[in-house]
Amino acid sequence: MTGAGRYAPSPSGDLHLGNLRTAILAWALARRTDRAFRLRVEDLDRVREGAEARQLEDLAALGLDWDGPVVRQSARTAAYEEALADLAARGLVYECYCTRREILEAPSAPHTPPGAYPGTCRDLTDAEREAGRERMRELRREPALRLRAGVDTWTVHDLWAGEVSGGVDDVVLRRGDGVVAYNLAVVVDDGAAGVDQVVRADDLLSSAPRQSHLAHLLGLPGPTYAHVPLAVAPSGARLAKRDGAVTLRDRLALGESAADVVGRIGDSLGVPGCRTAADVLERWDPATLPREPWVVDLPTL
Ligand code: GLU
Repeated sequence: MTGAGRYAPSPSGDLHLGNLRTAILAWALARRTDRAFRLRVEDLDRVREGAEARQLEDLAALGLDWDGPVVRQSARTAAYEEALADLAARGLVYECYCTRREILEAPSAPHTPPGAYPGTCRDLTDAEREAGRERMRELRREPALRLRAGVDTWTVHDLWAGEVSGGVDDVVLRRGDGVVAYNLAVVVDDGAAGVDQVVRADDLLSSAPRQSHLAHLLGLPGPTYAHVPLAVAPSGARLAKRDGAVTLRDRLALGESAADVVGRIGDSLGVPGCRTAADVLERWDPATLPREPWVVDLPTL
């Protein structure tokens, strides 16, 4: 085996059909390309009691297996701090004293992508920094730490979307509440686990260039990506728990089996008759992945 794929759920509740479909695809693509498959719990925030155990149980019930121990981000602070120190030693980290509102209201600089950080705190004088720190003390928070990015765009390769160039800005590396930012954690964790294939939902496609750029700065080979279209309700809105019986447990409560749920996921991929994840692995051709969102239209929704 060379390289690894992974699935990295946030333990904020039960996985819905769209999450389960992405998990199966991540597993199938890793196994098909002779990679290890890792499971990482992204528990830096949005944690719901008991959700992790339920998520792992549900993935196993569909027939997924993973290599090595489950990694929890909450146990990886030292690795994140080491990466931060490495970037800081190279002058690539600065303190940011902006509030969310100030960032939203700031006029964006030329060439920066919409919504990107405009660089307000990038080049402050010592006196301005001291004033910023004083303000943070009043607000009872730490300054956020940002990356001094150095480039505006970065290109990644996505199995389905092809070459994707996207905006890179001075991303937050550590938040004002002291928690390491998702973009740094994900890059450090994928690098440490030898992950070179990232399969996940395509709402994160726009984050891939900045993550790959960060990997580059940390001396890590950026992974290849495969972003899967989201699952949506018949209304077109992103699938959510409020849409009804959308989790494995909901489906089991209605009398369906785990095999029936895999069957629905297989149907959405154009491979009818699947009963376990192994059937999807055997029959699914990644080249045929539907590129539109999966409209989950169940009678009980
Ligand atoms: N934890 C993220 C989520 O559940 C996924 C992050 C990733 O795959 O990079 O949406």
